[in-house]
Formats: sequence, C-alpha cells, structure tokens
Amino acid sequence: MQISIRNITKQFDRFPALGGVSLEIGSGELVALLGPSGSGKTTLLRSIAGLEHPSSGQILFDGEDVSNLSVGERRIGFAFQSYALFRHMTVLNNVGFGLKVRPRKTRPSRAEIRERALELLDLVQLGGLENRFPSQLSGGQRQRVALARALAIEPRVLLLDEPFGALDAKVRKELRRWLRQLHDRLGLTTIFVTHDQEEALELADRVVVMNKGEIEQAGPPVEVYDDPATAFVSEFLGTVNTFQTTLSDGIAEVLGTDFPVADADIGEGPQRRHGPAIAYVRTHEIELLSRERAEGIPAIVRAVFPFGGSVRVELAVEGYDTPIQAEVPRAFFEAGEVRVNSGLFVRATNARVFPQYN
Ligand code: ADP
Ligand code: MG
Repeated sequence: MQISIRNITKQFDRFPALGGVSLEIGSGELVALLGPSGSGKTTLLRSIAGLEHPSSGQILFDGEDVSNLSVGERRIGFAFQSYALFRHMTVLNNVGFGLKVRPRKTRPSRAEIRERALELLDLVQLGGLENRFPSQLSGGQRQRVALARALAIEPRVLLLDEPFGALDAKVRKELRRWLRQLHDRLGLTTIFVTHDQEEALELADRVVVMNKGEIEQAGPPVEVYDDPATAFVSEFLGTVNTFQTTLSDGIAEVLGTDFPVADADIGEGPQRRHGPAIAYVRTHEIELLSRERAEGIPAIVRAVFPFGGSVRVELAVEGYDTPIQAEVPRAFFEAGEVRVNSGLFVRATNARVFPQYN
C-alpha cells in the first residue's frame, strides 16, 4: 500500500506539533521516523492511523484521500507504547481482540478467530504460550504478542511507535532482525518510530529525520549518514566532533585542512560564503599521524578506549576547548603509536561545513 502525506500540519492549542510535513511512502517500504523527543514523530504516526486529525493537509492511501475514514476503516495494524496488552486477557485473546470487536457482519466465527490467533502466535514464535497471561511473559515476548495483535486484522499498513522501547539491547537487536524478516515475508508497508539511530539505520529502507515538527531529511540510511543535508542531521546521526569555524569565500579550515561549504539548500536562500560556520567531523574521519610525518595539527592523547575492532581515542588539541574524539583501526593502536600522554598529529579527512545563520 502506497501512502502520500501532503503538507500535513497539526496544532495543539496554538502549539505547532507538525509544521507542513510531506512524504511519499512506497508499497512494501519499511520507513523509520527518527528524531529527538517532541519532534512530532508520534503525532505524524497517529495522524496516519486516524487517531489524530491534522489541522490541514491530506493523507492518501493508494491515491485515495482517507481523511474521512475511521481508524477501523483504514485497516491499520498498530502497536503503540500506550496500547499495552490487556492484562486480564490470555495471550490468545489479546491477539484475537481486533477480530472479536469487529461488527457482526465482518466478524469471523470464534473457531476462526482462535485458529488465526494460533497461526499468528506461531508466526511470532510464541506457539504454545497462548494460555499465558501477559504478566507471565518476558518483555520481548510481550512485544511480539503486541505485534501479533496488530497483524491479526490483516492490516494494509503496520505502524509501530517505539516498538522495542523498553527492552534491553540484546533483545532489541534480535527483535529488529525478526521484524525485518516478518515485514518482507508478509509484504507489509511499515512505518516505525524510534529515537534509536542504530535501530533506524540498520532496519529501515529509508530514514526520515524529524526536528521540531518538520522533516530535515529523508533518504536511504547510507545517504542520511554519509551525506547529511543539514547541521541538525550531521549532529544527530553518529558521533561527531563539532568545530566552530569561519567561512572565507566558501572555504573553512578544520584542523589545518580546507573544506568547502556543503552545497545543500537549507531553505535560507543562497548559501552564505563568508562568516561564522560550523563543521562536523565524524570520529573515523579524524586521522592520527605519527610524529615522523609531521603533518596536521599536534595533539596529545588524553584517553584510549581499546574495545572492539576500532579503538576510540580522546585527544587534546591546542586551540580547541573540547577534546577531539577519534576512532582508529586496532592495528594502529597495537603498533604502539597510541598511548596516554603521547604526542601525535591529527588531521580531518572529511568535514561537513554549514554556515551559521542567526
Ligand atoms: P515525539 O513522538 O517525536 O516525541 P510528539 O508527536 O509526541 O513527539 O509531540 C510533538 C509535540 O506536540 C510535543 O511538543 C508535544 O508536547 C506536543 N503534543 C503532542 N500531543 C499533544 C496533545 N495531545 N496536546 C498538546 N500537545 C501535544
Ligand atoms: Mg513519541
């Protein structure tokens, strides 16, 4: 199912929760809405579900305006944090609930509902647990019951609001992989909200980064990560070093190397080519050079965190107040180059430079 969101706004009292959001979602796509708390993710999701009425704009499903369709008529499966499982119902009855409350005309028989619920429990790998109550399940199992419940109505669209929010890291990762497979197998169109960037980048076909009720950037994970369109996206995704710098004819110096201003049109008219700017350099874009080569800017190693395939290094650089964070291959560390208090040289291999408008 294809979804078109056209210039949706939403005011709560006078507060603009959504300020003109437009987005096309292709049939079969898995899209992540990513953004800080309060950026409008839930409001957008609830508007698609029909739980919230936008102040203006249109939402179309396969080209049909659904503004006047109720939640039920939209055939959407949703698992929201606020829609917890019914504690007094067994797992089986929780999953069958959406079918049981259908009007008599379209309601399957009790036997059919039971059969469908059991099938779904197998699908989410909970076969045999149908007679348990939610309190007798682990957090991850409860999340899967919530998903089975969302799927019971054979939704055209699956909407998930922080589906794995309260779980520990390991379970989250398992469920993430599992959700991706389920989405592909059932040919769903899925939109899920998360504030976990790793989850969004690893799971989604496309990541939509939201800020203050607007979309900052929408694109495939690699694109938003490698080619952030705005200062906000640069700062929000991945670990970055931030440098206050100055543009001179469109060029800014960062750690001794010149970089051109990003050419993104950020909606403020033509890019400014002179004046204050901010530059972002990811930790793996900081290169450490041993003393002999004498390139770059001198730095002192302040701390080393040698865990995993790459080693995180914290450096003090003269003229920069905050320590610089670098990530270097383990081999470089094992060669003995990086020790606390040793002197090295640092260089930026890449930087994204944005003019600062005030
Ligand atoms: P997110 O899901 O990204 O954290 P929300 O969509 O929940 O953000 O909220 C966006 C903004 O709208 C927030 O500032 C929030 O306080 C406000 N908001 C959300 N729902 C309501 C409501 N029912 N009444 C008033 N303000 C609301
Ligand atoms: Mg939310």
